[in-house]
Amino acid sequence: MWHRALDVLFPPQCAACGEIGSGLCATCAAEATLVMERRDALLVEALGVYQGALRRAVLAVKDGRCDVALSLGLALGARIARECAIVPVPTTRERRRVRGMDGVVEIARAASQRCGAQLCDVLRHAARDAQRGRSRVQRLSARGRFLCDERFRGDVLTLVDDVCTTGATLADCAATLRASGAYVERAVVVAIAPNLPRL
Ligand SMILES: [Zn+2]
Repeated sequence: MWHRALDVLFPPQCAACGEIGSGLCATCAAEATLVMERRDALLVEALGVYQGALRRAVLAVKDGRCDVALSLGLALGARIARECAIVPVPTTRERRRVRGMDGVVEIARAASQRCGAQLCDVLRHAARDAQRGRSRVQRLSARGRFLCDERFRGDVLTLVDDVCTTGATLADCAATLRASGAYVERAVVVAIAPNLPRL
């Protein structure tokens, strides 16, 4: 109720242009054009390039704007099939503490609500001391920076993240999930950094 009362006093604004409303207004959302790119062994689908309105929206989520995470997540959910469980790319614990919310989990939650796919928040950062006390299977499933606490039996998973830059993080997450028995070939992200020419 207090939320509603505050909305009247301080109505939420579009993260990109400041228009009264919530999350990202239709005009700003329409500014982005879907991008599909293959990065490593993953097909990465983005609402658009990391610039302009989408960039401002991603930064607003990092600043703790839940309403923007909801708008972006609903848009991503439209790109995901109901049969593919959704796995958010983990945020570092330090960042979560600073921001007060995990923006990527909030985006993934909204996407899951939109498409009906299950939310599977199973990846963790493999902090060096977090390895202690884990079972051998859990340690073996670790690859690179991430750990997966679950075993899968060929389940089809879709990764969700806010921004894809080189695709290395998504590739690490996908490798960890595949080592746990999942089938991962797609990632859906809010924005993708333009592919830089190789020097
Ligand atoms: Zn706007």
